[in-house]
Amino acid sequence: MAKIGILGCESTTHGMNCVMVGCLGNLRGREGSFKDYPEEDPLDLVGIIHCGGCPTAVGSEGIWQKVQALVDYGIDALHLTSCLVHLCPFKEAYLETIKKEYPELEVVEGTHPFHDLDALKTGIKELVSQRAVTPQTMNDLIFKRIKVHASSDDEA
Ligand code: SF4
Repeated sequence: MAKIGILGCESTTHGMNCVMVGCLGNLRGREGSFKDYPEEDPLDLVGIIHCGGCPTAVGSEGIWQKVQALVDYGIDALHLTSCLVHLCPFKEAYLETIKKEYPELEVVEGTHPFHDLDALKTGIKELVSQRAVTPQTMNDLIFKRIKVHASSDDEA
């Protein structure tokens, strides 16, 4: 049995509501970055944790705390999610810390393939910057220009 932990990106999961359907689907189907485990080895997903948010230019070493939370349960392998691998500016720093702190741990870069990486990056850029559909903010409420959903009229 391979005991697996996943380290994900806070921004994509919490900020963009990613439910990790690609990561978990590939794990269940033993595809993507999970296809190299021996067939006779059942895959046991022990847990998932996220980075905790972008750590500033000086705090990337703190990733050890997140990994430790999974290591405490005896994982054999740590998968970095594919979004972390392709989008995180701290990936190399994280890897350096993880490999130094946990030299015995197998670290796998990725969970699933992206069919169109450029399209992914374009979409993520829009989700972060929200330029096409501007989100409402507190200022919209204060300046009395907020748009309210019809079903909210009774509560207002
Ligand atoms: S540090 Fe990397 S993995 Fe964490 S939220 Fe920022 S981009 Fe995502």
